[in-house]
Amino acid sequence: MRRSLVVGNWKMHGSAASIDTLVTGLQQQLANLPADQTDIAVCPPFVFIPQVISQLEGSAIACGAQNVSDQQEGAYTGEISATMLAELGCQYVIVGHSERRTLMAESDADIAAKFTAVQSQGLTPILCVGESLAQREAGETLSWIEQQIKAVIAVAGIEAMAASVIAYEPIWAIGTGKTASPEQAQEVHAHIRQVLANESQAVAGALQLLYGGSVKADNAAELFGKQDIDGALVGGAALKAADFAAICMAA
Ligand code: 13P
Repeated sequence: MRRSLVVGNWKMHGSAASIDTLVTGLQQQLANLPADQTDIAVCPPFVFIPQVISQLEGSAIACGAQNVSDQQEGAYTGEISATMLAELGCQYVIVGHSERRTLMAESDADIAAKFTAVQSQGLTPILCVGESLAQREAGETLSWIEQQIKAVIAVAGIEAMAASVIAYEPIWAIGTGKTASPEQAQEVHAHIRQVLANESQAVAGALQLLYGGSVKADNAAELFGKQDIDGALVGGAALKAADFAAICMAA
């Protein structure tokens, strides 16, 4: 039986003060959630990670990062390494978010390199995949997602996928208020699991597979009711303690 996982991706939002309030709120709201039910993590902007980790001390909520360099160390101005994130106490790192693929032109090769850099430090990559609206309308969704996943398996190997999380985030559902229906999401999740199962049944069966894209308190339960949806990667609704807590409760 897979555990549920709900991850908040705060993107480029917040200040020291607003994040203090958000984390305090989360701890209050989630105090009664049985610790053995759901894994929970938040991914603040880099500069707030130490603050959040210190605030979360003693709590079951983990901290992650939204991005990482594919390099371990060196003359890479402005970059942050997986070693640094591990030293801070991060447990997860999001790699391949569609905003980075599109706005920062990250390629499948870049993302595979980041994935292995994250794992080399014992952290868990959350690999994001997802199709555009044009690809969905052209009937290319499943083949596109398969290609994005196979690009990482080709570099990291199937066994490495066991120590990762995959998040399916259709680009057309991110920040649009337009969630994939539970059936649409389940279809893609089942396909992802099948792609993994073709190489390893054990890896496919154990991997936590998240859905992301306009997940809210009022649509989470329906999504989580699907067989292959193990949790969510939440953007906008993760910025409000009550909303994020309600999603965690539904998982
Ligand atoms: P929204 O929940 O705001 O649609 O964002 C989803 C997302 O991109 C999480 O990584």
